[in-house]
Amino acid sequence: MPHRPLLFLDVDGPLIPYAVGEGRPSPGYAPLRLGGARRWLNPRHGAALLALPYRPVWATTWEHDANEVLAPLLGLPELPVVEWPDGAPAYGRTHFKTAVLLDYAAGRPFAWVDDEITDGDRDFTAEHHAAPALLHRVDPALGLGADDFAALARWAGRLTRD
Ligand SMILES: [Mg+2]
Repeated sequence: MPHRPLLFLDVDGPLIPYAVGEGRPSPGYAPLRLGGARRWLNPRHGAALLALPYRPVWATTWEHDANEVLAPLLGLPELPVVEWPDGAPAYGRTHFKTAVLLDYAAGRPFAWVDDEITDGDRDFTAEHHAAPALLHRVDPALGLGADDFAALARWAGRLTRD
């Protein structure tokens, strides 16, 4: 598919659910020790992400560490990385990432998976980005799950049919 949308991937929240507490995240996650702390990760997420009709891009404060540390654990190849400028400004009610991601997308369709997306980011994107965009919030207590993958697949499918 020549025009795959970008898929901006946050790490803490979607891929590493951090608000799990005493419960469990979505099915398929396993605990592991990472950076001296216990984290949850689903080792099948790499394959599941690559099966989606997108071009995945790291959009995380892990920046290049996502390729070094996480990609091998998830079974992902090295992915492009969005780098955050020092003191990336937030406009009004937007996340500091939002304007940077719009710049990176440069008019291309994208989906963005993050636990910190708000309506402020959706409004800003609708106003400043002419191409289709899906801002998909993931619950940091659950992490990415089957419903999220289904929603991403559905959205990309609609995009290519239009
Ligand atoms: Mg996050």
